[in-house]
Amino acid sequence: MTMTDEQLKKEVDQIMSIKGGVKGTEIRAIGQYIKKRHGEEGLWLIEKKMKDIGYSFYFNKIETSSWYLEALYTSVGFVAQEVFGWKDLYDYGYNSPVFSFGLKMFIKFASVKSVFESAPRYWNRFLDVGELESYELNEKKKYIILRIKNFKFHSSTCRFFAGLFLRIVEFTINRKGTVKETKCRFRGDPYDEFLISWK
Ligand SMILES: [Zn+2]
Repeated sequence: MTMTDEQLKKEVDQIMSIKGGVKGTEIRAIGQYIKKRHGEEGLWLIEKKMKDIGYSFYFNKIETSSWYLEALYTSVGFVAQEVFGWKDLYDYGYNSPVFSFGLKMFIKFASVKSVFESAPRYWNRFLDVGELESYELNEKKKYIILRIKNFKFHSSTCRFFAGLFLRIVEFTINRKGTVKETKCRFRGDPYDEFLISWK
């Protein structure tokens, strides 16, 4: 961990000032990922660190069907990144379909075209903030472009979405691909844009 509690609190306070909701399933999912990588103790470490900086919560009290603050979800991811020394949240994003039941169902029998078409609606089932724009699908040249708009919680979420989008596309095409964030709100662009391509 490179940040002091004071620095971490400052970052989390900033995230917590942003409005918007997320379904409890997603907070549960990151809890499961943390547990898989760092055990029960990992969950406890995050709960303790959150408490130390003024945001008490418990993973096992999160109800899957209730709405919570997206800021809480983003903060948990960011704090976990700091506490465990993760390089970024890419690996969590890439693995999150494994831990999120809803996501698993979404992509199970889907084609890349159906994912492209239904992704914006799907976004709003789990988030009541921001929009996902399915900007372009080119099956011939083998790429897809997705944009995230009106969603600016913390720069750590960009790597999360990069991993998540790549994995979803890989599931549907049944092979490996690559992802690049081609535009980013944290670099001054009006939205985040992700180019996912495959061979
Ligand atoms: Zn970004």
